[in-house]
Amino acid sequence: MQDVQSFVCGRWVGPGAGARPIASAVTGAVIAQAGNDALDVAGMLDFARSRGGAALRAMTFHQRAKMLKALAQHLNAHKDALYQASFDTGATARDHLFDVDGGIGTLFVYASKGRRELPDAHVLRDGPAEQLGKTGTFLGQHVYTPKRGVAVHINAFNFPVWGMLEKLAPCLLAGVPSVVKPATATCYVTELCVRLMIDSGHLPDGALQLVTGGLGDTLDLLDCQDSVTFTGSEATALKLRTDPGLIRRGVSFTAEQDSLNATILGPDVAPGSAEFDLFVKEVLREMTVKAGQKCTAIRRIIVPQPQVQAVLQAVSAGLAKVTVGDPRREDVRMGALVSAEQRADVLAKAAAIGAEAERVFAGPAAPLGDGVENGAFVAPMLFLCADPDAARAVHETEAFGPVATILPCRDAGHAIALANRGRGSLVASVVTRDPAFARDVVLGAGAWHGRLYFNNADSAAEATGHGAPMPHMVHGGPGRAGGGEELGGIRAVRHFMQRSAVQGSPDLLSAIGEAWQPGGTPVPVPAHPFTRRFGALHLGETLQTPAREITLADIEHFAEFTGDTFYAHMDEDAAARNPFFPGRVAHGYLLLSFAAGLFVEPNEGPVLANTGLDNLRFMKPVVPGDSIAVTLTVKQKTPRNDAYGEVRWHVRLANQDDETVAEYELLTMVAC
Ligand code: NDP
Repeated sequence: MQDVQSFVCGRWVGPGAGARPIASAVTGAVIAQAGNDALDVAGMLDFARSRGGAALRAMTFHQRAKMLKALAQHLNAHKDALYQASFDTGATARDHLFDVDGGIGTLFVYASKGRRELPDAHVLRDGPAEQLGKTGTFLGQHVYTPKRGVAVHINAFNFPVWGMLEKLAPCLLAGVPSVVKPATATCYVTELCVRLMIDSGHLPDGALQLVTGGLGDTLDLLDCQDSVTFTGSEATALKLRTDPGLIRRGVSFTAEQDSLNATILGPDVAPGSAEFDLFVKEVLREMTVKAGQKCTAIRRIIVPQPQVQAVLQAVSAGLAKVTVGDPRREDVRMGALVSAEQRADVLAKAAAIGAEAERVFAGPAAPLGDGVENGAFVAPMLFLCADPDAARAVHETEAFGPVATILPCRDAGHAIALANRGRGSLVASVVTRDPAFARDVVLGAGAWHGRLYFNNADSAAEATGHGAPMPHMVHGGPGRAGGGEELGGIRAVRHFMQRSAVQGSPDLLSAIGEAWQPGGTPVPVPAHPFTRRFGALHLGETLQTPAREITLADIEHFAEFTGDTFYAHMDEDAAARNPFFPGRVAHGYLLLSFAAGLFVEPNEGPVLANTGLDNLRFMKPVVPGDSIAVTLTVKQKTPRNDAYGEVRWHVRLANQDDETVAEYELLTMVAC
């Protein structure tokens, strides 16, 4: 029997008083025990806050992103061990792809997004600075800084790897330490994953701790800098959400709980079409992956009345081919539920659904395999509810297994109304080619669903699946689904940080945000900035060019050369009739080109490439006879690799009266 350990204050601690037995989902035999009532949880929280938090906050976003990548690579190299450990949870090799590979993939995505979308800094600026005074000497800027506490992740049994990593990735990237509390039923897989990460040596001390078994009085010791992220049942979520201590101490709490996710067959889709087959395929996959133990699985299949029999027959035919049994066997397509308790729960809930819906398909009773008689196997079950308007259980009772119900609908409006009867879900999917119907669904059902997934033959080859939360997209949903929000790219990183409005002078805000702000004191450049390497450039270094006059001949030459003979540049009377111009004006692109001519240093040097312009604005027309001069300032530096980094320059074009005529940010790659 395996003693599943906890990892607290830098030490592995075995089970003790209060340890709970854990049974194999496949055989029903007890294979492990976990839990120790004597864990030093106060020491654990202190270790996280003082050691883990401090070490993570000392790193920049990019350093933390590199750490995530190293962890992902390490887990990838050892994922076979995670696969092997996962079989006893009832998961098949196909299921491992969702849990193990899905979790590692999430780490990779956050590692990459952290490098590409976050600065190599400690503070995350939120939007541009606001000018709060007339002349720009007093600015406001929203910034995010890491919360100073610890995040306690209470996870569900169904995804022992992904469930941990999808919370851990954004949390570590934010600079906040974690305590992971996996569901006891599958905690031996999480323990192995944590052990791999700790042994990799990539995590600072205190950044990640693990409690297997009960949390003890951990939650009583949290305060307003801490957070609890919960995944699991509606009942436990309610208990924690209303815990007076957590409320009184202002502990942030988010929940992702069970929901009655729906899929809708578009009114435009007929049997025999590619879309019809796609719909049936998605339903079959969602009912059987992880034996239906997925928070996003399809529970309600909404079908236009004329297609009900065709859908029923196609789904039943597909389910008839699903082999159930020992997940280690290659001929088995669907494994077991996680435990005998879950099996009993699913059967009881299926009976409740059966009271108002007819069971139209039930799979084989006996699972394949040796010694599996006491395993937590349940065959797939399909129901048909003839009157979904009168029914309640089909919209409210989540049988957390391979169970789904077909709900006939009259029209598009009825389909949307039925989808919303779940009173909040993680995802609703729609198979349709009809853009108007797709738009109606978003307007009619968007408020009730965390994610709306549309699929048809055009997108099928690349579509990621109804039930697969993508790290880039929000995972969570309103109402019944818990009201929480996870993933969603960098949005999830912000959940672990505090947003503050910071007000002050441009110089102070430049230092705070680690990016130069307009109005900041210019720093003289010792030599042309294009002759200086990435490491030698400092924020705020400013090059001021001489002025250049723009003549009518310049404008005509540019027009002929480029072919841009737009009337505002070529026809004095027509230009004067345009309310934006006094008469003929210079092309905006001419100004950009002349600006480059003014600030560029032509000789071979460390500037390697111009990779783009951001936030370009033309503010005042330039007429023949005006002159322009350029101010080029180092705004932000972002290392990309050992060879070069990105320099973001603030570029201002001013006329002879020092009025800004154009402004933009220029992106260049500069050698290190
Ligand atoms: P629970 O809500 O009981 O457990 C979820 C997590 O909360 C587990 O880690 C559990 O630990 C922990 N927990 C339970 N009670 C407390 C408490 N008082 N304080 C702190 N932590 C606590 O869900 P189950 O795992 O029992 O699943 C029950 C149902 O929940 C399923 O049948 C399904 O309907 C739904 N569910 C939904 C999921 C989703 O992703 N949306 C995922 C899993 C389940 P421990 O295991 O040690 O008790």
